[in-house]
Amino acid sequence: MKLEIDESRCKGCNLCTMVCPYRIYQPGKVPNRRGIYVPHLDRPERCPNCRLQQLYGRRLCGVCALMCPDQAIRWVKEKPYEPQKVVIEY
Ligand code: SF4
Ligand code: SF4
Repeated sequence: MKLEIDESRCKGCNLCTMVCPYRIYQPGKVPNRRGIYVPHLDRPERCPNCRLQQLYGRRLCGVCALMCPDQAIRWVKEKPYEPQKVVIEY
């Protein structure tokens, strides 16, 4: 699974940048065509949902998605030909 921010929903409030324990969300530096600074994702493959959601069959952390007032955060399945990044934690 991979983490995505739906740019059409995000309003750039940066709540997600404050709650993620992995600091995956970083404040956006470039405005999009609506003038919104959408956060960018720093190595989102570190998120436990990306790594383990399929193995456990349920969402794990999910704090960011709970906090997002615009339901702009979601996890999507990689396409069949898309490489999947894996992070191993020690
Ligand atoms: S689910 Fe948790 S670890 Fe993953 S991006 Fe959201 S807050 Fe960060
Ligand atoms: S919490 Fe949601 S609306 Fe706010 S910046 Fe993050 S993704 Fe965008």
